[in-house]
Amino acid sequence: MSSETPRIHDAVMPQLDALELLEGRPLVITDADEVLFLFVQGFEAYLEDNGFYLDLSSFALVGNIRRADTEDMAPVEEAKALLDGFFRERTETMTPVPGAAEALAALAERAQVVVLSNLPDSSRGAREKALALAGMPYPIVANTGLKGPAVRHMADRVRAPVFFLDDIPHNHTSVAQAAPDVQRVHFIADPRLARLIGPAEHCHHRVDDWAEVRRLIERELADIGW
Ligand SMILES: [Mg+2]
Repeated sequence: MSSETPRIHDAVMPQLDALELLEGRPLVITDADEVLFLFVQGFEAYLEDNGFYLDLSSFALVGNIRRADTEDMAPVEEAKALLDGFFRERTETMTPVPGAAEALAALAERAQVVVLSNLPDSSRGAREKALALAGMPYPIVANTGLKGPAVRHMADRVRAPVFFLDDIPHNHTSVAQAAPDVQRVHFIADPRLARLIGPAEHCHHRVDDWAEVRRLIERELADIGW
């Protein structure tokens, strides 16, 4: 595994600098799509409204979007445009993952929470509203690219146990490389998607249920006497 850390994107650094992070307080860094919000379910509804469907035969988006009438695969550019359209139109109205708000509220009694989400910066405001509506009013960083560098930056500031949740395996690899001390939890909310892949190679835990995530983090903190 390379020890070289990619740099933080220019658009991400000011957001990280603006975060109020307390030194000495544990930190939970959570992804949003498929962890806090039912992304696939929402995207499927959007696709259906636009004459497409998601062929959930593998753990991928682009390449699995097909026209409803011909079943032809949407070309990459069209797939990306559909994804952009979805975020633009529906970020604010996505359905929260059951149990996420309750678990995070309980964890927030002993930890700080930051949402680290790869989404277009233009949809950040809509995501903030959706989080607040769902009872998850935590600061959000609209990330670009791999997540390791941003996680490393936050971990260096808090100097306390850090937990990272994400559904996408390569984000766990990136965090493992950039911030190996961070506890990595592989989480996939949609059961159909969850069945498609096992634990990410570079995660510590695979958990697809928020009540279990809460127990896990509380147990980990207790084990190290935090
Ligand atoms: Mg995600």
